[in-house]
Amino acid sequence: MKFSAFRILKEGLTGNRGWTPHWRSPDPKPAYDAIIIGGGGHGLSTAYYLAKNHGITNVAVLEKGWLGSGNIGRNTTIVRANYFLPGNSEFYSYSLKLWENLEQELNYNVMLSQRGILSLLHSDGQFDTAARRGNSMLIQGDDARLIRRDELREMVPFLDYDQSRFPIKGALFHPRGGTARHDAVAWGYARGADRRGVDLIQNCEVTGIDIENGKVTGVQTTRGAIKAPKVAIVVAGRSSQVAAMAGMRLPIESHVLQAFVTEGLKPIVDHVISFGMGHFYVSQSDKGGLVFGGDLDFYASYAQRGNLPTVEEVLRAGMTLMPALGKAKILRSWGGVMDMSPDGSPIIDKAETGGLFLNCGWCYGGFKAVPASGVATAHLMATGNHHDMAAKYRLDRFRTGYRLMDEEASGSQHNLH
Ligand SMILES: Cc1cc2nc3c(=O)[nH]c(=O)nc-3n(C[C@H](O)[C@H](O)[C@H](O)COP(=O)(O)OP(=O)(O)OC[C@H]3O[C@@H](n4cnc5c(N)ncnc54)[C@H](O)[C@@H]3O)c2cc1C
Repeated sequence: MKFSAFRILKEGLTGNRGWTPHWRSPDPKPAYDAIIIGGGGHGLSTAYYLAKNHGITNVAVLEKGWLGSGNIGRNTTIVRANYFLPGNSEFYSYSLKLWENLEQELNYNVMLSQRGILSLLHSDGQFDTAARRGNSMLIQGDDARLIRRDELREMVPFLDYDQSRFPIKGALFHPRGGTARHDAVAWGYARGADRRGVDLIQNCEVTGIDIENGKVTGVQTTRGAIKAPKVAIVVAGRSSQVAAMAGMRLPIESHVLQAFVTEGLKPIVDHVISFGMGHFYVSQSDKGGLVFGGDLDFYASYAQRGNLPTVEEVLRAGMTLMPALGKAKILRSWGGVMDMSPDGSPIIDKAETGGLFLNCGWCYGGFKAVPASGVATAHLMATGNHHDMAAKYRLDRFRTGYRLMDEEASGSQHNLH
């Protein structure tokens, strides 16, 4: 079924009886050419691009819960290409370009809203750092502009510019950054992969990885054994657990990250605002809720919910930046499990076990990476070679210490505290 304005009109006039499910619900086959463990954003986009770019369609995505039940449906929806370091810079730039055509590509409304991202600056030193980052973004072909306090105040008058600890002096503006509807991204990729023949198998937890003579031969699941010569582990916060099934110890720690949304309000926040020094960021959803978050809960955990001290900390930072926030009622909060890598950058690589692939280490930034990550992982699985834009995401950088990409890129420098 193709979505179009005509189709919506027709369905509207005929009682909406013609819509069909977005994807099939097949039972697992005994064998596939490739298995992807994890039906989050990265697993689904990998399956989609395997089918679309490489014609590999005898593929299963195995998801232990339901599609989109993990971080892909829990994030704060920010997409951006404001990274500084080589390795990250070209990857996220590539990803943003894919975002800009994603709705046409998937024939699905992912509600991309390039409303611009403002990363707040509080000192001359930060201006210098932001200028370097902005220049790096421009060299990469993306957009960036330094904004001084007066102009910023016109754009976002509701911030507390004169707070005593971090008075606001300006911002690095990234106009093409913004937000997208996270569930729709999962559903759009799922529908696209299914239409090309990929089997999306929900309620199917992988419990073991079969290896013979140094090569992967398939997986054990709660729905039986499934054979495949290629298996990709794409399970975000569960990466260490699933990789351990193949005898690997990954340099990944799982931490909870929380987010919050208020009741629907009239439009007030037109951009994404990142207050890195206070560990706080905010945007406004199309329904009117202020969507915001802060830092990790700072203890390793697999729980998809957070702790109260972090709630207090995030709200304190929010009130410091934007005192009007105190008038809003919070509707709900939730947590997701982050696959934190030691240098804040991801891993897209082959494992030493033949036919086994890794996609993990996305930390708090994996949503915006979904399109490029799918292209890169599919490319690696299909050709055996690293895609140029993701060539630096090697696992062995943590063993050798060479070519680490120590970058968080969430705004200003957290470590200045
Ligand atoms: C609160 C919060 C805010 C965030 N904000 C942003 C943001 O604004 N911008 C941004 O770029 N990123 C953001 N992120 C990060 C981003 O959401 C993640 O990096 C990204 O979604 C992770 O990749 P994924 O979508 O594939 O993960 P997931 O959706 O978690 O997918 C992994 C899947 O693997 C499945 N799985 C696990 N173990 C098994 C198994 N044994 N067998 C089968 N299936 C299994 C899980 O059930 C899950 O569905 C945020 C995350 C959180 C939690």
